[in-house]
Amino acid sequence: MTQKNWLKGNLHTHTTNSDGDDSPEHVAEWYHEHGYDWLCLSDHNHLTILEGSDAEMAKWPLLVRGEEVTSRNSSGPVHVNGYGITELVEASDSADIVTAMRENVERIIAAGGMASINHPNFRWAFDNRAMMQVEGYKFMEVFNGHPFAHNDGGGGRASVLGIWDSLLSNGRRVWGIAVDDSHNYITEFGPNLSNPGRGWVQVKAATLNQQDIFDAMAEGDFYASTGVTIGDMVANTREIQIDIDTETHDDGTQTKYSTLFTGANGRLLHESTSISPAYKPTPLDGYVRATVYSSRGTRAWTQPVFMD
Ligand SMILES: [Zn+2]
Ligand SMILES: [Zn+2]
Repeated sequence: MTQKNWLKGNLHTHTTNSDGDDSPEHVAEWYHEHGYDWLCLSDHNHLTILEGSDAEMAKWPLLVRGEEVTSRNSSGPVHVNGYGITELVEASDSADIVTAMRENVERIIAAGGMASINHPNFRWAFDNRAMMQVEGYKFMEVFNGHPFAHNDGGGGRASVLGIWDSLLSNGRRVWGIAVDDSHNYITEFGPNLSNPGRGWVQVKAATLNQQDIFDAMAEGDFYASTGVTIGDMVANTREIQIDIDTETHDDGTQTKYSTLFTGANGRLLHESTSISPAYKPTPLDGYVRATVYSSRGTRAWTQPVFMD
């Protein structure tokens, strides 16, 4: 049997082919130097494909194809990432958010790709009600590293996790991804810039190639993270068990962890402070997903297990 490894990748990245501030080559080098196995350069309405000599490619992670299909005329930003597309996808120019989202998703699928709904709370564009009117997308961003993605919601607006739970509770099978949405690489780094290294996914794939990575992602065989590392994981309708890779810092202190298991309608099913948190689902749970919170503010999100 083939041993499968976690392969680390970022699915949402900009370069000078859209509004990023560094070249595709340098951006790819940054991710390689920082331990990423693979990377999607997802420029706005541009399919960035890097080709280089063997010596150049050795400085890059595996590059998988993607585009941030970006509607410019919709009443709020409708940005849909297309993964594994075989050609450039033209964005919908509809003024209506739901129509633009639908057309972008349909065009991505027609181009052989998988669609991900990006940053719902960016400029407070839309929430679960709009997303429930659109079919066919496989992913949504449950963390986006852009400083104005408003992941946590507030003031009466749902968090992106709340939006995810609402979709899942209404029968949608959508996987949650964490991404950088990085734009700023060469100026200073800071909380109001969209710098790299903030959110990623770890995919369980047999080999490091685009097909295996996207096949595993389509099955939900991955987790999303902003810094929490999972060593191994069992997730099925009988048992969910997570082995957290704990961190020990230079001064000898250890990061501490709490894990929340969430079910239908966002209900808290179980909370654990173990480094191997576990939960046995019941048919009444609807679905079960886990969020690991660390004392440093980093998190990991496992994909939902559906009980039917
Ligand atoms: Zn965007
Ligand atoms: Zn973006």
